Amino acid sequence: MDTFSEALPGIEKKIPELKSQCICPDCPTYNDCARNGTELLYCIEGRSSTCITENLGCICPVCPLTSELGLLNLTFCLLGSEQEQRSLKSTGKIQIP
Ligand code: SF4
Ligand code: SF4
Repeated sequence: MDTFSEALPGIEKKIPELKSQCICPDCPTYNDCARNGTELLYCIEGRSSTCITENLGCICPVCPLTSELGLLNLTFCLLGSEQEQRSLKSTGKIQIP
C-alpha cells in the first residue's frame, strides 16, 4: 500500500488541519472567487466548483502535503482530487502531464 492509500482512512477528521497547510492561496491559478469561497485542499476535496477555470501553473509540488500524503498528481483544482485522477489514469481516460 502506498503513502496516499495509507493516509486516506479517517482523513475526513483531519480536513481542518490539512486545510491549514494548503498553499493554494499562494498559487497563480488561485483567484479571488476561490478565496471568497474559502476553497482549499483540492487534492482531497476535488476540483473547484466554478471559480478556477484557467491553469496558470500549479505549486502543489512544493506543498508540504504532497510528500506527507504521497500525492502523485497536481492541478487538482481543475483536474480533480488525487483519488479521481488516479482512477481516471488507471482507466486511461485522462493523460496527466
Ligand atoms: S497539494 Fe495542492 S491542493 Fe493539496 S493542499 Fe497542497 S497546495 Fe492545496
Ligand atoms: S491545486 Fe495546484 S493549480 Fe490549483 S490552486 Fe492549488 S496549487 Fe494552484
